[in-house]
Amino acid sequence: TLKTLQQVDSIDSDVDPMERSWPTRQNSDPQEPPRRNDWRWHQRSSVLSEWDIPYEELEIQDLIGAGRFGRVFKGKWHGDVAIKVFNIETDNDLQLASFKTEVSMFRKTRHENLVLFMGACMKLPHLAIVTSLCKGKTLYDTVRDRRETLNMSRIVNIATQIAQGMGYLHAREILHKDLKSKNIFLENGKVVITDFGLFSVTKLIQYGERKDDTLAIPPGWLPYLAPEVITSLRATSQYTDSDLPFSQASDVYAFGTVWYELLVGDLPFKTQPAESIIWQVGKGLRQSPSNVQSRDAKDILMQCWKTQPDKRPQFSHLTQTLDRLPRKRLTRSPSTPLHLSRSAES
Ligand code: ADP
Ligand code: MG
Repeated sequence: TLKTLQQVDSIDSDVDPMERSWPTRQNSDPQEPPRRNDWRWHQRSSVLSEWDIPYEELEIQDLIGAGRFGRVFKGKWHGDVAIKVFNIETDNDLQLASFKTEVSMFRKTRHENLVLFMGACMKLPHLAIVTSLCKGKTLYDTVRDRRETLNMSRIVNIATQIAQGMGYLHAREILHKDLKSKNIFLENGKVVITDFGLFSVTKLIQYGERKDDTLAIPPGWLPYLAPEVITSLRATSQYTDSDLPFSQASDVYAFGTVWYELLVGDLPFKTQPAESIIWQVGKGLRQSPSNVQSRDAKDILMQCWKTQPDKRPQFSHLTQTLDRLPRKRLTRSPSTPLHLSRSAES
């Protein structure tokens, strides 16, 4: 049987419950469902439907790509949009509740460097998130494009925008949990961060489907994972978001990896197998950009990659540090073999 999300819970979890229920007034019968011209209908629609997009209103066009949690389509809804369609089993209350939580988080975000959340389809079997369509290139592609010359002041500018968007998320007590260069777009020099807070939905799907006891590690995921998260990865078929110790500090660690990519043009531990990365990071080893000339740039990296989460800086602090960097002395190095180094305190 299909359930609508409203049956599981209201999408407006942060709305005063009094506001959500039908208020009674002397001249309207609370037992009767509100009608369209009834003031209660308007109150209800403004609270519940503001972010609720009827699936029929969406015009789904080309498939842009498939990620960990489902597929992303280009589409139309009052203009160009990106539509993320989730493959969620229709009878799983936990997944539905999790989706609802993600959406309620999305609603609270208004920042230049965060993708614009436009709404969601909450009615099973159509679960989808509608955001603005990012037209630029991802940071992942940008740092790998040989024609793209990233000078240091551009690198610092990009990093600052990322830190500002992330600082905003953290100030609103939202964790990204999946900060990576593929989730960062560059549109005419402006950074747009996507996919914040979607991790629980994606992982629930991924691990919910697993039958054996092996751990599925998406390619390119490990270099962004903080040691405390890596060491808590266990071969388990019943993974939930709460099993992994994500925190503001683990987001900062992931930012460190993005900073490394900006400086070096590739991911740390590039060609190494998962077991080897897990082992090294767990032992406190980090890849060092030994060919980055700037001590200041390396310092930022090592701060973000500290083994102890509470030793890593906050994003608000990082924006200040980036602002003080002497930009002209910094040069980006070509990709040459890199060495391992111990993280600062271990
Ligand atoms: P990943 O982030 O691992 O690439 P996703 O499922 O998030 O996987 O994205 C799938 C594809 O859709 C990717 O090519 C990604 O760049 C693209 N994409 C995701 N969100 C947007 C968006 N808001 N605008 C444009 N393209 C997007
Ligand atoms: Mg993504």
